[in-house]
Amino acid sequence: MTDFTMTKDSEGIATVTWDCPGKSMNVMNIEALLHLETLVDDALGDKAVKGIIITSGKKDFAGGMDLNVLAQMKSAAGDNPAKGVFEGIIQMHGVLRKIELAGMDFKTKKGGKPVATVLPGTAMGIGLELPMSTHRIFAADNPKAKIGFPEILVGLFPGAGGTTRLVRKLGAMSASPYLLEGKSLAPSKAKSVGMIDEVSDDPMADARTWVLSAAEADLVKPWDAPGYRMPGGTPYHPAGFLTFVGASAMVNGKTQGAFPAAKALLSAVYEGALVPFDTALRVEARWFTNVIMNPSSAAMIRSLFINKQALEKGAVRPTEFADQSVKKVGVIGAGMMGAGIALVSAQAGIEVVLVDQNQEVADKGKAYSEAYMNKGIKRGKTTPEKKEALLSRITATTDYTALKDADLIIEAVFEDPEIKATVTKAVEAVVPIDCIFASNTSTLPITDLAESSVRAEQFIGIHFFSPVERMMLVEIIKGKETGDRAVAKALDYVRQIRKTPIVVNDARFFYANRCIIPYINEGIRMVSEGVAPALIDNAARMLGFPVGPLQLVDETSIDLGAKIARATKAAMGNAYPDSAVDDVIFWMEGGGRIGRKAKAGFFSYDDTGKRLGYWGGLTDRYPVLETQPDLIDVQHRLMFTQALEAVRALEEDVLMDIREGDVGAILGWGFAPWSGGPLSWLDILGSPYAASRCDELQATYGDRFACPDLLRDMAGKGQSFYGRFSNVENAA
Ligand code: NAD
Repeated sequence: MTDFTMTKDSEGIATVTWDCPGKSMNVMNIEALLHLETLVDDALGDKAVKGIIITSGKKDFAGGMDLNVLAQMKSAAGDNPAKGVFEGIIQMHGVLRKIELAGMDFKTKKGGKPVATVLPGTAMGIGLELPMSTHRIFAADNPKAKIGFPEILVGLFPGAGGTTRLVRKLGAMSASPYLLEGKSLAPSKAKSVGMIDEVSDDPMADARTWVLSAAEADLVKPWDAPGYRMPGGTPYHPAGFLTFVGASAMVNGKTQGAFPAAKALLSAVYEGALVPFDTALRVEARWFTNVIMNPSSAAMIRSLFINKQALEKGAVRPTEFADQSVKKVGVIGAGMMGAGIALVSAQAGIEVVLVDQNQEVADKGKAYSEAYMNKGIKRGKTTPEKKEALLSRITATTDYTALKDADLIIEAVFEDPEIKATVTKAVEAVVPIDCIFASNTSTLPITDLAESSVRAEQFIGIHFFSPVERMMLVEIIKGKETGDRAVAKALDYVRQIRKTPIVVNDARFFYANRCIIPYINEGIRMVSEGVAPALIDNAARMLGFPVGPLQLVDETSIDLGAKIARATKAAMGNAYPDSAVDDVIFWMEGGGRIGRKAKAGFFSYDDTGKRLGYWGGLTDRYPVLETQPDLIDVQHRLMFTQALEAVRALEEDVLMDIREGDVGAILGWGFAPWSGGPLSWLDILGSPYAASRCDELQATYGDRFACPDLLRDMAGKGQSFYGRFSNVENAA
């Protein structure tokens, strides 16, 4: 069985069908592409064949390149990996260019055979690069299909000619949302922007008609025709000049230069636009090699593609329990979090009972879903029928007896142990005996909350992040008594709502908040030392964090920070390390500067809540030092403070799997995605350097930077996290 097969019919059409055996989605690898080449050679050399149609035997066309293969390309290439990678890519270009020219004599533009692609559904990555090398793309009118290049989202860019072809087809400006942001489109939209050619109910019939009637001129790609001009102009054309200057500024503004793939993509586009098509392909291949050789791309592929998918598919799920899919979930507390949890559950087709203290609040929680769907209808993303169906799945009530047939409860009431205890008892009095009870607490230990439960082995933490419908991570917390069926149930639920889970053991702040708090605190501590606030936030943004620590604390609110600080201090007593931070936040809280919600925090705001700049009063109290620290020093403080917390979480068995530590950090709080996560970042630095840098930071800034024993041991042995912790179940 092979991925591509070919049949020839009496009308002279050779149909090549892509159908990877045993997979639900086609993905490309090098062997398959070389086999495709032999089929194309056969069809081009066969006088009886008039034209070729490439299609799929599945409901979609293809999901892209097998990234596992791509990740291994480098290591398989021996002593000179860059050369091996480059040659591999050039080989792929050769196959697609052969399809594009299809036997045509380049000088006379004669003698070629028409090649069309038929896309029944989704076509992503090389699943779109291949069609773009054919002469005409026909897609089924399938609104669920996605057409696009998502490579940038995992630290790559389209490297099999997709970058060069899309830019030459649409122009650099029009191509940029698809290349730089990885935006994908439904077929009708892809046609209207010019990415594909035809959308119809019967694309195969249309493709056949086209192949049988295509003229020689139809087979000449615009860039192979004499006098071709790039839409929107090349870099030295006045209009093109503006595009390229603007694109460069935009990309650097958005990414702060932290993502190597975005920079390399821009270079490939810019340099490629200055040279003939075949040279542009080589330029693209060189920049693609450059990206593959950068450790960032391997780390991003590993965390954001391979391991993220593995976690979503249940890599850490206890295997002894059959499917625990949720049919009816009870959400207790219809506030900000409860309303969002009800929405995402109902979106997954789960029946929801949304309970609050009075009917008005419960209804308001349900109205959140209505408002969300109304927005979707306005944007053409959903329909009134779907809205009605979704709302009919949510029952808003004050009556606990409505929970009597729920199989999962998610409690999201006030963050108060007593209220939570009362709710737990009230719920357990009505739900079935095998119902799993989850708390969405962000700070209270699950083991303590489970004490009010009569079924502690069925008690677990399911910690969402805000806003629930947008944040992809869900942290599942095992209390001391939590049993494996509860873990399986929580994981099955997270799969149903299509989010990414990590499973951690119970400890103060679990995993994500445990790492975010030191990040925020380090930023605030630097303010107290006289580091310029703008330097602190910009240093973080230049590392690829979505917002700097000071802006982040303004968003999440300073009174919440102060509340957490008080509780932590009470719990830790003399060991509490953050008094320098408290000095700043208690003072700000006392003055009512509690963040954006009060339109006063580290920033000043106008009446509409728009940030105006850092608040002057801050530097009056904490004067800015005349000599500011080095940018790298500020960045290392911000990075190490989180990464070392992740290492400690691993040492303490809060994190049970390094993959979860990395994936959770990127999805949970936007930890520098280019690094692949905190543990991957330490691997990129190398453990010997990381350990010695800890020593320097500790000597200058204090014991919070003390090198954890685990890292010290790894440094002595020259180990990496992914080397030390990769075993059969844990392979990255
Ligand atoms: P919220 O104040 O917006 O909502 C809490 C809701 O619980 C209110 O509607 C309240 O009426 C209801 N409630 C209180 N007592 C109740 C009772 N006895 N029975 C039924 N309903 C009751 O709070 P929130 O921000 O949605 O947070 C809820 C929980 O989620 C907290 O435990 C919090 O720590 C956690 N959490 C919050 C965030 C966040 O970003 N806000 C993130 C993760 C987790």
